[in-house]
Amino acid sequence: MKKILLITACAILALVEGCAKDLVTGKTTLNYYDIKNEPQLGAQVLAVQEKEIKAKGKRMDADADPVEYERIKRIVARLAAVSHYPNFPYEVHLAEVDVVNAWCAPGGKVMVYTGLWDPKKGLVEKGNDDQIAAVLAHEIAHATARHVTESISKTMTIAMAGAAVQGAIAAGGSSQGADLFGEIFANGLDLYIPSYSRKNELEADRIGLFYMAKAGYDPRAAVALWKKAATMKKDRTSIYASHPASGVRARELEKYLPEAMAMYEKAKASGAGAEPSAPETKKGKKAAKNPVRTR
Ligand SMILES: [Zn+2]
Repeated sequence: MKKILLITACAILALVEGCAKDLVTGKTTLNYYDIKNEPQLGAQVLAVQEKEIKAKGKRMDADADPVEYERIKRIVARLAAVSHYPNFPYEVHLAEVDVVNAWCAPGGKVMVYTGLWDPKKGLVEKGNDDQIAAVLAHEIAHATARHVTESISKTMTIAMAGAAVQGAIAAGGSSQGADLFGEIFANGLDLYIPSYSRKNELEADRIGLFYMAKAGYDPRAAVALWKKAATMKKDRTSIYASHPASGVRARELEKYLPEAMAMYEKAKASGAGAEPSAPETKKGKKAAKNPVRTR
């Protein structure tokens, strides 16, 4: 029944919008949004968030921590270059917020909260590129796999989606979609905290593992991090909330580790692991090698 509905929905909307392809399975997934509009949706989300952070008097970007801001910019550039969408208009932000989390909005707008490397409750060690890359690769994978618009599409009926599609065409991102965005990014503290489905988390883990390895970061760091995450206190705003205590996510990642290690060794051999990296010079080539696959 679900499948029939999906096919019908795709057939109806195919003229105005496409169905997307899953980056992992290659299967058709339901997504009413045009990927061209995703950066605009992400930009709206980021603008709201920046305003709220600044209104609280919190510092951002280089003012929050110049060294770590440069670090996350460099890491995102390397990850973006090997991602499925190197040409997304990636943007990187750091906010002085005591929450152990980070996110990447549709179209590649990355936000990191300084709580991520809090010495007591944080997930990563401050200044550890491999660990930070593991988190950022996972978050970027949510954006390249288009999990936000996929989730929004699932909560809509065909009629709603039709209206949203018209809105998206008119405005470059529907207000209905922006409202529904709050369902995926719970906004309890006036902060966006990602909350994806279990299936999407596993998918982002796997895609992210390969991104970090291809960018020359040690993928073993991801397995160790998600093992640690499973043992941490699951407060609602932290990245730990999506990591079941069973450690199932770390075990799933272990399955893909040999494949990721091969990518990592190859990246290191070609100099991708060495600093300074040169993602800019690769961009054009990668863009050609990785055509947009979801249309
Ligand atoms: Zn996630």
